[in-house]
Parts: sequence; C-alpha cells; structure tokens
Amino acid sequence: MIYKDDPDSIRGFLEDTSNLKSGRTPGVFFPESVDELAGLLKSAIEEHRCFTIAGNGTGTTGGRIPQGEYVISMQKLDRMGEPIALSPDRAYITVQAGVLLEKIQKKVEQSGWFYPPDPTEKLCFIGSTIANNSSGARSFKYGATRNHVARILLILAQGERLNLSRGVCRADRDGFFRFSLPSGREMIFKRPGYQMPETSKHNAGYFSEEGMDLVDLFIGSEGTLAVIAEADLLLTPLPPTIISCLVYFKKIEELFSFVRLLKEPANNISPRAIEFFDGHSLELLAARYPEVPDKSAGAIFMELETTPEREENDLDTLFGLMESCNAMSDESWMALDRDEQERLREFRHALPLIVNDWLSRQHESKISTDMAVPEGAFRELFDFYCSSCEQRGFVYIIFGHIGDAHLHLNILPRNREEFIEAKALYRKFVDKALELGGTLSAEHGIGKLKVEYLVGMYHECGISEMARVKKYLDPFLLLNRGNLIPAAYLETKTH
Ligand SMILES: Cc1cc2nc3c(=O)[nH]c(=O)nc-3n(C[C@H](O)[C@H](O)[C@H](O)COP(=O)(O)OP(=O)(O)OC[C@H]3O[C@@H](n4cnc5c(N)ncnc54)[C@H](O)[C@@H]3O)c2cc1C
Repeated sequence: MIYKDDPDSIRGFLEDTSNLKSGRTPGVFFPESVDELAGLLKSAIEEHRCFTIAGNGTGTTGGRIPQGEYVISMQKLDRMGEPIALSPDRAYITVQAGVLLEKIQKKVEQSGWFYPPDPTEKLCFIGSTIANNSSGARSFKYGATRNHVARILLILAQGERLNLSRGVCRADRDGFFRFSLPSGREMIFKRPGYQMPETSKHNAGYFSEEGMDLVDLFIGSEGTLAVIAEADLLLTPLPPTIISCLVYFKKIEELFSFVRLLKEPANNISPRAIEFFDGHSLELLAARYPEVPDKSAGAIFMELETTPEREENDLDTLFGLMESCNAMSDESWMALDRDEQERLREFRHALPLIVNDWLSRQHESKISTDMAVPEGAFRELFDFYCSSCEQRGFVYIIFGHIGDAHLHLNILPRNREEFIEAKALYRKFVDKALELGGTLSAEHGIGKLKVEYLVGMYHECGISEMARVKKYLDPFLLLNRGNLIPAAYLETKTH
C-alpha cells in the first residue's frame, strides 16, 4: 500500500474549506483496493493507529482534518462500473468511494441516465457525499443523497466488511437492529432514541426514526461509524429539457410571493431547484457580471424539468407567475440551452469564490450558517439574520436553498473585533433556529467545527445516545475522532 509521510505529501490533507488550522498527522495511507483498506483497519489496534478518513477536501466543517491521527485517503479507490437498467425508468451504477461526483454525473448522462444529488461543488468524492448525506439545489425535488443510495459496502472500524442493501435490515418495533457479520459475529444495538427536527433538510447527528433502514444510520454519519468503500447509486432517466432562469425582484416581499407561488402545486409548475440570492450577494456578483441590475433586492434561481412538447406551456406559466409578482422580467436571465445553463451555473458557483477572494484580502474567516427551520418559521429566522447583521453594521450575504427553507448567511468580518462579535452572534442564530424547531445543520454536517453546538440541539441525553451507537460499532474509537460527538461523551461520560 502507498504510504506517504513527507511534509509536501501531507500538507494538502491538513485542510478542507473550513479554514481550521489545527491539522496534524504522522502520515497518509492510500489503499488501492477494498482488501487493502480492510487490512489497514484490521491491523489498527496492533499497530496503535487510529484514522481520519479523507475525501477530496471540499468539506466545510473540518471533518477530514486529522488531529494527530493517521489519514486514510480514498483517492485510489476510484473504480466505476457501467449503468445497469432495472426498468425503463430505473438504473443503478456501482462506484468506489473515491470516484469524483462530476465523473459519475458525466458518465451516466452519456447513456441517458441522471444522478440527481448535486451539492454545488462537483469536485467531491462520492463516498464523502454519502458519509455527509450531501444535498444542494436539486434536493428541493429529489431530496438528499440518502434517497439515491441502494447499497453500501462498509468497512467497519476493526476491518470487518458489512455489505448492506436497502430493505434488508430495519430497526424493529423496539428500535433494535439485528444482523450478523461475515465472521459470524452477531450485532444487536438500538437506534438513537431521539426525534429529529421537522425540517425538510437535516444533517446534524445520526439519522434516527421508527422502522428506519440500517443503511440510513451510516449515511450522514460523517465517517464516525465505518468507512464507506463502495456504493450502488440509483439513477433516473435524464430529463430531456431543462428550463433555468434567474429572476430579479425590486422588492423582497414580491420575491417571497414568487417563491410561494412556485411551491404551490395548484400552479402546475414543479421546479427541481429554487435558490435565493439577496441584494448583497448580487452586489458582489455584479463586479464580475455587469449585467446584474442595480437596485435589485434579490433574485431567484429556478430550474425546471420539462419536455420539448411541454416547454412552451411551462414557460407561459412561469412568465405569468413572474408578472403577477412584479419580477424585473426584462433584466431576468432565461437559460434554455445547455451552454447558457452552464453559464448560469457558473454564475451561481462564482459567489463562494468571490467571497473567498474578498476574505483573503481581509485576513479573517467568514462566519457561515447552515441552519434550516420548518417552513412556517422561515421568515422569522430570515428577519432575525438581517436585523442582527444590520444593527452591527456587518458586511453579510444571504443565499441558498430557499425552496427548503434553508439559507446560508455568511458574515464577512473586516477585522478581528468583527470576527469575535460575529462568532458570538452565531451562537444566537443557533439558539434562534433551535427555538423555532430547526436544525443546526441542514446539509454541511457537524465535522469538528460545530461539535460544541450539537449539544444544544440534542442535549446531553441525545449526544449520549449517539456516543452509545458509536462505541458499539467502533469501541476503540479508531475512526474520525473529534467529529460529531464531543470527546468527553466517548471517554468517560455516561448518562
Ligand atoms: C463551494 C462549495 C459549495 C458547497 N455546496 C454544498 C451544497 O450545496 N450542499 C452540500 O451538501 N454540501 C456542499 N458543500 C460541501 C461539500 O462539497 C460536501 O460536504 C462534500 O460531500 C465533501 O466531499 P469531499 O470529497 O471533498 O470530502 P472531504 O471534505 O474530504 O470529507 C468530508 C467528510 O467525509 C468523511 N469521509 C470522506 N470519505 C469518506 C468515506 N469513504 N467513508 C466515510 N467517511 C468519509 C471525511 O472524514 C469528512 O468527515 C460545498 C462545498 C463547497 C466548497
């Protein structure tokens, strides 16, 4: 197996996009087969090693940044099969964990299939998107990654394989999972005994609900319970025609009315993505895209799947809704062919890059939220974000997945004092979102950055439930230490 411990090879594994600076590791292993990966974990106790699992480093929460552990890079596990049709409207593809999401999407599209999860950043490994239950714009229609995974091959902490297909092992009425490993070892444990928030997206802590599938415990567990080595991904037919558009509004109230109309089934329009840019985001984008109109209070990016036969009808409906909400129709951007849609996609992707550029000139990290609340509480959280930032005179932007009542607020501090004040304000945002029945993280997960806040969400008993499951599956705490569960709950605390 390839092993590297020279500083040049290690450096890249000490970071992701979180700006967490505390990474350190003795070295990085690059298993080239599932057998090598299993062997590495089997010998972990004997060799006194524990591991942090590394995908491609686009995560935002420091999940893959080691704190002294060895690193397992999934980079060389990059084999991918061919799409296999199960019926005219269903197929699957088998992929190893280190395949880039972008490669999978391109490959399946060549044979007329579609893999819906699209967490904006395409340069992530598929195994990480499963470990993080990634979502993104299209999850408004398709839901997060867990809806699209039919099977996972896991390597448990001590090297045993667990090949799990959906539907094979479910929690019983009392919440217990019962299954045996290839070695014959019987496994019995109970799902975490807490209730998840009623938000349309949620990605904070282990998934748990009545009668749940064991596959769903591992999806979104952020590498704390096992290494995902391989998966079967479900595919649907590639939509023949897409309508994409960016619609500007002068007044924020009219923008919100437009979103309500887009989500109303009676209006005969069912977008796959409804995304928001506030006026501040548009001001930043205007520096690179002069066509962004002045004095726009915000914009909605929308994507709709249609057919050549239905396209005209759908466009008429869309224009009607825009008109009824006083959209800035003349300035709005309709993208009806692939090239134009790619330009519009680049526009959306430009925002985080512009923000990073801006920050690199300020020498401070941004403070960003990933909370979501139930639909009815959306406006209260939005207004709270705006008024809190305005009062303090912060530079900030709000953008993201408005269809799922899930917006990202980024505060961009200009100096240390602002950073400290913004960090204190972040805690108030968390408290507010939780008070409104929301979730600490709708999609980016907890990693190392948000561990302290997770206790506020699940309280001590909920975190202890997670720790119980972790310690059953990984009793020697070999995998992804420091992620998700505060260390104190794994070492000494019992409740
Ligand atoms: C500009 C930008 C936009 C983004 N937008 C979105 C978005 O809209 N929605 C969204 O959900 N995310 C978004 N993300 C976050 C990110 O892309 C995802 O979290 C992605 O899944 C990380 O993939 P990665 O390969 O880079 O993983 P890494 O950052 O390397 O690792 C992420 C975590 O996964 C664990 N892990 C990796 N591989 C495995 C494995 N095989 N088995 C078990 N655990 C593993 C790691 O230990 C770590 O905890 C965005 C990121 C950026 C930079």
